[in-house]
Amino acid sequence: NQRKLIMSEKLRVLGELAGGIAHDFNNILTTILGFSQIAMNKLSDSEIKQYIQTIYSSCLDGKSIVEKIQSFSRKNTNVKKEVNCINDIARSAIEMAKPKWKNYYETGGIKFHVIEKLESTSNIHCNQYEIKEVILNIILNAMDAMEKGGTLTIRTYDDDENTIVVEIEDTGSGMTEEVKENLFEPFFSTKGAKGTGLGLSISKNIIYSHGGYIEVHSVPGEGTLFKIYLPKTLEINEK
Ligand code: ADP
Repeated sequence: NQRKLIMSEKLRVLGELAGGIAHDFNNILTTILGFSQIAMNKLSDSEIKQYIQTIYSSCLDGKSIVEKIQSFSRKNTNVKKEVNCINDIARSAIEMAKPKWKNYYETGGIKFHVIEKLESTSNIHCNQYEIKEVILNIILNAMDAMEKGGTLTIRTYDDDENTIVVEIEDTGSGMTEEVKENLFEPFFSTKGAKGTGLGLSISKNIIYSHGGYIEVHSVPGEGTLFKIYLPKTLEINEK
């Protein structure tokens, strides 16, 4: 149908665009991110430190947009999977998002209470960068949903002998039925110019390519819980 045609045309155009500029832009942003992180660690002047934190945080937003476009056009390339510790991956996603919530607090007084319950004792066979991207995407969405602050909880645990669960829960806006039905669709976004609508669609593809699945539970006005199920075993279809 027409909607599908428009979608695939958009995808094709996006793919070309990504090939041209996203890669170079990503490198530029990585440099800015790296050096602003070094500067943040070295500076003692709190005012300047705050400016740098804002640079870091905006850069992180930019990078996540560029990476979304890139990974969307890179869908079919081979991704190397190795045995990884899910808690390490979750920790590094949390670490990446930290400057953003610090920045929210320091510039807007918005407070996030972050609870980490990393209790899985298993390893998974995965591409750590992809799984980190998924967790980071969902954390950044959770923070966007908590405009006035709130609690972000990140859990990992072993569901049964074959499955690891990663949960990311927020006490934010929650979602209407309509949003819930569409949130994994490419280009679906309620964030206007600030959103690409690609984050969750990419995340779902990544999780599927790891033999897992994702669930969302959400109550408008109360918050949202994303549950990612990933297999512990090595029986994964390599792409
Ligand atoms: P983007 O963040 O660029 O809009 P996503 O694919 O990541 O794209 O998300 C799609 C939409 O799903 C968002 O625009 C938002 O409406 C909704 N959404 C995602 N996560 C949450 C959340 N934690 N709370 C409320 N709404 C959410």
